[in-house]
Amino acid sequence: MTNSSATELQVTTGSSAQTERLGEVLGNWLLPGDVVLLHGDLGAGKTTLSKGIAHALGVQGTVSSPSFALVNEYALPLFRLFHLDLYRLNDPADLESIGFAELTSAEDGIAIVEWPERAGPMLPDRYLLVEIGYAGESRRSVRISGIPEAGWLKRLRALHQALISSQPA
Ligand code: ADP
Ligand code: MG
Repeated sequence: MTNSSATELQVTTGSSAQTERLGEVLGNWLLPGDVVLLHGDLGAGKTTLSKGIAHALGVQGTVSSPSFALVNEYALPLFRLFHLDLYRLNDPADLESIGFAELTSAEDGIAIVEWPERAGPMLPDRYLLVEIGYAGESRRSVRISGIPEAGWLKRLRALHQALISSQPA
């Protein structure tokens, strides 16, 4: 891990398997009510990370991008998981028809959102921001921060510890 601070964690992955594993660490740490926004270009690894999150949360079987439906919902024993991909959002009114505001404010749900910038002013006030950038053909740099910062400080510390423990010495 590089450049991590109390408010921001920075991880570099060297393969899609490592990004999926990072997603698993994240998934094990998430709580019902959390919203995770995944920023990054096409092919950055947002869906790869989402797969790791979903599997850690107990989703069995295939996790694929919900491009055309905009949202995939998984019912888990204790809560629901919503995986959104807004890449194909053409009309902001479609956010209303999928119930975007409810999906990102459900106390018994965790929402993962690819292409969240398309939701503009509909985004919630509180979320975990994950920014994935290219750092080479099979390398990606992943920056994780909580918004608003103050609301995530305590929890980010636990995530930091989990990330350190998950990395080979
Ligand atoms: P997105 O959802 O951001 O468009 P995907 O997760 O669907 O991206 O695709 C990422 C692509 O990049 C996959 O083809 C994957 O194999 C490749 N890849 C190469 N290196 C990495 C890495 N370190 N992390 C994630 N994906 C990687
Ligand atoms: Mg994707």
